Amino acid sequence: MCKTHVLRVPKANAPFEKTMIERRDLRSNDVMIDIQFCGICHSDIHFAHNEWGNGIFPMVPGHEITGVVSEVGSDVTKFTVGDRVGVGCFVDSCGECEYCLRGDEQYCTKGVVMVFNGMGYDGEITYGGYSQKIVVKDEFVVRVPDSLDLAAASPLLCAGITTYSPLKHWNAGPGKKVAVVGMGGLGHLAVQFAHVMGAEVTVLSQTMNKQEESLEMGADHYYATSDPETFSKLAKQFDIILNTVSANLDVDAYLSLLRVDGTLVNVGAPAKPDQYSVFSLIGGRRSIAGSNVGGIRETQEMLDFAGEQGVAAKIELIRADHVDEAYERVLRSDVRYRFVIDMSTL
Ligand code: NAP
Ligand code: ZN
Repeated sequence: MCKTHVLRVPKANAPFEKTMIERRDLRSNDVMIDIQFCGICHSDIHFAHNEWGNGIFPMVPGHEITGVVSEVGSDVTKFTVGDRVGVGCFVDSCGECEYCLRGDEQYCTKGVVMVFNGMGYDGEITYGGYSQKIVVKDEFVVRVPDSLDLAAASPLLCAGITTYSPLKHWNAGPGKKVAVVGMGGLGHLAVQFAHVMGAEVTVLSQTMNKQEESLEMGADHYYATSDPETFSKLAKQFDIILNTVSANLDVDAYLSLLRVDGTLVNVGAPAKPDQYSVFSLIGGRRSIAGSNVGGIRETQEMLDFAGEQGVAAKIELIRADHVDEAYERVLRSDVRYRFVIDMSTL
């Protein structure tokens, strides 16, 4: 067993405390990682506040992990000590079902093992990346390209793949009009990916505050959703609307912005159910869809693509003792555009 410092919440909504936990002894196919950076995703906050009702406490959140390999098990050939690596939302899956076999481990029939707030197939509770060390099965570790800074790359492990995967699945590219709703952690990476994929990108944000930076990141157009005229101006325009908002929206209003055959893809995950009129779909053969992160192969593909295209998160690097404050700021949409914890300060 190896001891490591972590930040954990003892119970729902409690402030973070610094403590130590043990990581398992390395199995033959395990990799130990010295974590250098971990992003703060809004999902960490939903979990730590037990908004989805499935919290296991005490909890160590964190699923946007980058660091350096410090030890490898005897059968590991893919990684060596010193490699720059990342770990995202999950750390195991059955490996045998049709979804695992095609690289969609996140939809594993047996149930994927989450990096935190999960339970391994051996009954071990998982603790995530707000930590200095983690032990992960090699197949669930990805390589961070040398061209990417490890801090700015960490949000790619969740926010990046969560936006890249649906943009590819719904064929964002030349000739396609994509709207990104919510310019937060996921949204600002969605804008960059949709732009380098060749789509025409529109940001729909609550206010005009983030216009200049959105255009710099590759958006072609920017509108405030607080302005009612936005919805009349943009009626029936988009092929894809990627909704990254953590709260419930007026779904009918957003569906009215879709062309015939357009799709509203939800990646934002509010706790309460959405409501909409079926007539908003029928009137334009429209679809409502959802998407959950992305598989391991696709995560590696996304990182390599990000490395080539220069896509990375715009971050605010914070000390470990500022996480409670960072959570409050994320809840106020006051983040440009992702908080990342510097684990050397833990
Ligand atoms: P975030 O950084 O807080 O960004 C969300 C953005 O949504 C905010 O910056 C804000 O953008 C907008 N927003 C917030 N509250 C709003 C409201 N009441 N009405 C309208 N717009 C609002 O969060 P994130 O880390 O990007 O995560 C976003 C959501 O995706 C969360 O629910 C998270 O759990 C979920 N998620 C899902 C997956 C998946 O696999 N499906 C993966 C990761 C995260 P503006 O200021 O621009 O309006
Ligand atoms: Zn996340």
